[in-house]
Amino acid sequence: MVMEAAAVRVVAVRASRSHDSRRVAVATRKGPYNRSVMTSVMEAPARAKYEAVIGLEVHVQLLTASKIFCSCSTQFGAEPNTNVCPVCLGMPGALPVLNRRAVEFATLASMALGCTINQTSIFARKNYFYPDLPKGYQISQYDKPLAERGVIEIAVAGGKKKIGITRVHMEEDAGKSLHDGFPDSGEKTAIDLNRTGVPLIEIVSEPDIASADEAYEYLTLLKEIILYTGVSDCNMEEGSLRCDANVSVRPKGQREFGTKVEIKNVNSFRFIREAIEYEIGRQVELIESGGKVVQETRLYNADEGKTYGMRSKEQAHDYRYFPEPDLLPLVVDEKWQAEIRSQLPELPEARRARFVSEYGITAQDAGVLTQSRALADQFEAAAKAAKNPKRVANLVQGELAGRLKAKGIEIGESPVTMAGVAMSADLVESGAISGKMLKDLYDLAFERGKDFPAVYEEEGRPQQSSDTSALEKIIDEVIAGNPKQVEQYRAGKTTLMGFFVGQVMKASKGKANPAIVNELLGKKLA
Ligand SMILES: [Zn+2]
Repeated sequence: MVMEAAAVRVVAVRASRSHDSRRVAVATRKGPYNRSVMTSVMEAPARAKYEAVIGLEVHVQLLTASKIFCSCSTQFGAEPNTNVCPVCLGMPGALPVLNRRAVEFATLASMALGCTINQTSIFARKNYFYPDLPKGYQISQYDKPLAERGVIEIAVAGGKKKIGITRVHMEEDAGKSLHDGFPDSGEKTAIDLNRTGVPLIEIVSEPDIASADEAYEYLTLLKEIILYTGVSDCNMEEGSLRCDANVSVRPKGQREFGTKVEIKNVNSFRFIREAIEYEIGRQVELIESGGKVVQETRLYNADEGKTYGMRSKEQAHDYRYFPEPDLLPLVVDEKWQAEIRSQLPELPEARRARFVSEYGITAQDAGVLTQSRALADQFEAAAKAAKNPKRVANLVQGELAGRLKAKGIEIGESPVTMAGVAMSADLVESGAISGKMLKDLYDLAFERGKDFPAVYEEEGRPQQSSDTSALEKIIDEVIAGNPKQVEQYRAGKTTLMGFFVGQVMKASKGKANPAIVNELLGKKLA
């Protein structure tokens, strides 16, 4: 479907709608952000007189196979306008049928965010005109959302802080305007309606967030929790997670909120943090110089590190919400809620605490190992199988993480699996291989793209030498070959022990058991 010129003008004026985030995402992904822009905006003393009030609205796409009100596929990247039908094209007379899976996913996410589920919620029409919204309205929820009153606890300096979640409601996504990539893109805007009707939840926070860093922390935890539930892939590049921020400032101690500005279409958590930081500074500077903050929507330009006003913010009543007459009230009764609740996985925070107590690892290690549910599951399986869980955790962080980073791959793509890590941990634990041998085997595994057990076999099951008579022979040779160092050592330069151990290890081609080498050297050099 190609919109003619008349519609293009509308697009140009109103290109900032939230569902248009992908286009903006491309436009803002260019250069590195210049931090000096941000800090130069405001002198610190003036800023210290003010406090920021921030609320976040996060849209999350649910991972259902079909759309929210029809059976069209939700597959990302399909040929434009192929995943469509009379319902999602908004044809007259076509009726929506609610996707049960979408309700379950939305409810599960709401529960994970600590919300109370409303047994009855109401779908409502949000009316506005936009070329990629064929019906002329979006089916959303308004005064009776699916869920309310949740909480996310974030870490702040000196403790924890609760950020309230006002509501979680369900809605359908709109289509996508394509402003470039076609021969006639100069005059026309193309519309892809594949995304129309894809199920979303909108998670609205209370204005409890007081800084850009708190916003970043909140978003990171929110994403982590949603990922654990498995209801969304939260892929920001593909628009599965989008965030808008409402930012205002007020003099410290004042109860009333200042005038808020909405920042839309920021495509990474880092940019959101920067945009909020910039916006707080801009508002304080404006007020300090006698100006007034205007309620409006602003876009963040990541190249310049600045926000720009787009249009004045329409009031809620501009959307003329009314209950959707084609859908019954949504009832998620206690029985259904209990069924959904039984699918709730152990959430990241709880899992971290348990890892610390159950496997005796540090809170920091637990944080790394619970970054994704898959990794945590794999770690747990390996730790349970291994003799020493702590060693498994150390190997993941020490040997695996660095090599993955160097290769630029995720843990899910690691040639060495968690089972491989468990095996290698046991070999070190039993003294069969040394730490040096383990490192070499990991290097080979990454070079060959093979798991640890396979490489261990290929290398002929190497063993470190604990054969004392063989080691004694090597040690005697090393001592005979380095008389000067022996003399210095015996004269009190005991730091030379490292040199002797190194020589023995080298002579044994890394196979000597360092503990035994140390012990034997100590005796012979005494
Ligand atoms: Zn459809």
